[in-house]
Amino acid sequence: MNRKKHLAGQIRDHLKLYKDLGVRLARASETPVRAAAGPRRSPQPTSSKPSESKTATQGIKKAAIPGNLDFKVPIESLETIRGELKDCKRCKLSPTRKNIVFGSGNPNADLLFVGEAPGADEDEQGLPFVGRAGQLLTKIIEAIGMRRKEVFICNILKCRPPENRNPEADEISACEQFLFRQIDAVKPKVICALGAFSAKTLLRTKEPISRLRGHLIDYRGAKLMATFHPAYLLRNPNEKYKVWEDMQAIRDYIASLL
Ligand code: SF4
Repeated sequence: MNRKKHLAGQIRDHLKLYKDLGVRLARASETPVRAAAGPRRSPQPTSSKPSESKTATQGIKKAAIPGNLDFKVPIESLETIRGELKDCKRCKLSPTRKNIVFGSGNPNADLLFVGEAPGADEDEQGLPFVGRAGQLLTKIIEAIGMRRKEVFICNILKCRPPENRNPEADEISACEQFLFRQIDAVKPKVICALGAFSAKTLLRTKEPISRLRGHLIDYRGAKLMATFHPAYLLRNPNEKYKVWEDMQAIRDYIASLL
């Protein structure tokens, strides 16, 4: 009976997720199986076996991945790192920001998300992913059975670039040490790079996100999964199912370590 209830709960969760992520399910009466207007699904949509294919690192200079560099970072807490940032003026973004967006969540999270940089809402509130994209990220997190407060969310840059322009090299160079120290402090099992900019910056690669996503890559003592940014999904809802596949792989990998 309990097993049946558990199964029913799982099915309900999956249906909610599909709805939230915009995946249209085919009815039994519909042929072919995929609804005509629905997004193209992979042949086994519920298969979430993490892929560690070698293709994942094709084009990525492994020696250039910061996680593979042989440098020691002292063990420190997130509070220490935040304290060192203070009212940071290390790059040209400091005069235009309202708030430093350090990151938030569980300091011992198994899953750590890295976005690109704060937007207007985040700059206003001093918190990461609080706008529409952030609300979608919350749904995605909940869809794999986690709560937002269980994960840690941060960005490569801690300050908003004017007009949400792309981060520039000197800004990344000034700020990224804090991200790496955050990763080392949290020690997540999986780092999820949200969007092309985050993935390419973390992996030191020019490979497109479409090739990087879907693979668990060794990174700084954890696995890194690149996937599409929630803001991109808001503009391209037909791609949501790919993020669902990536998130299932993350969920199953973390579960496999328990
Ligand atoms: S983006 Fe980073 S380095 Fe630049 S001012 Fe903000 S906290 Fe400092």
